[in-house]
Amino acid sequence: MITHHLSDKLLMAYSAGSLPEAFNLAVATHIALCDECRARLASFDAIGGAMLEQAQDEGIALEQGALAATLARIKTTPPVAKPSPRRVPQGVLPEPLASYVGGDLDAIRWRNVGGGVRQAILPTSKAATARMLYIPAGKAVPDHGHNGLEMTLVLQGAFADATARFGRGDIEIADEDLDHQPIAEPGEDCICLAVTDAPLKFRAFLPRIAQPFLRI
Ligand code: ZN
Ligand code: ZN
Repeated sequence: MITHHLSDKLLMAYSAGSLPEAFNLAVATHIALCDECRARLASFDAIGGAMLEQAQDEGIALEQGALAATLARIKTTPPVAKPSPRRVPQGVLPEPLASYVGGDLDAIRWRNVGGGVRQAILPTSKAATARMLYIPAGKAVPDHGHNGLEMTLVLQGAFADATARFGRGDIEIADEDLDHQPIAEPGEDCICLAVTDAPLKFRAFLPRIAQPFLRI
């Protein structure tokens, strides 16, 4: 039962193809798990298509050649930059995430980041960073704030912070206004996809000196 979803703004940006690759990956992977957001995305895709058609009919709305250029740009967008959601029933990682990881959980090459927490950075364009995050049951990610946008999608287990509890399929959207300390629920290790477009703001000294090496 998914209770934390994508905002209209993010679904529209995904539909328009204006998000960095790493955020597209988080959006597409949530949509692979979430019927509700998949249906909302379909309506935004339809609106986008209708707007392009209307502009074409009216002719004057766009300068000559502008529509053709827009359509050409949409068509030439490399598929890897905007992964589309697909439903693959096996494993913990749905597509397109499984393709980025190169398999399921056992294909992830984890690296310790301290306190039992592990990460694996995924290959995406540099505009934003996508990482798999492993938080042992009952452990916490250091308390931090955000300099930009952070999306955290739960794939296994659950975590909670001061705002809510997030289980499989839930996505937390954090920005400059939120400071939090995600803590994995006891019982099962928590595995997430976390995407950021700016470094986090750590309160404690130790995470702060390790930050440049970990690209967090
Ligand atoms: Zn959703
Ligand atoms: Zn955060």
